[in-house]
Amino acid sequence: MSTYRSPFERLREKYDESELRCPACGYTDADGGWRVTTSGGRVRYQFVCPACDAIETRELRLER
Ligand SMILES: [Zn+2]
Repeated sequence: MSTYRSPFERLREKYDESELRCPACGYTDADGGWRVTTSGGRVRYQFVCPACDAIETRELRLER
C-alpha cells in the first residue's frame, strides 16, 4: 500500500480534521467542510458560517 500523498492531499486532510469554528461568532459547524479551490500553485480554503455569514478564508501556496 502506497503511503505517498501529495502536499495538497495532506493539507486537505489536516483541514478536514480540524474543527470548523467561526472566528466571528464562535459557531462550530460539525457537519460543514472547507470549500476548496485551487488556482495555479495556490489552494484556497473557504468556510462560510451558516450562523452569521462570515467568510473564513485561508490561502496556501503549494510547493512544487
Ligand atoms: Zn459566524
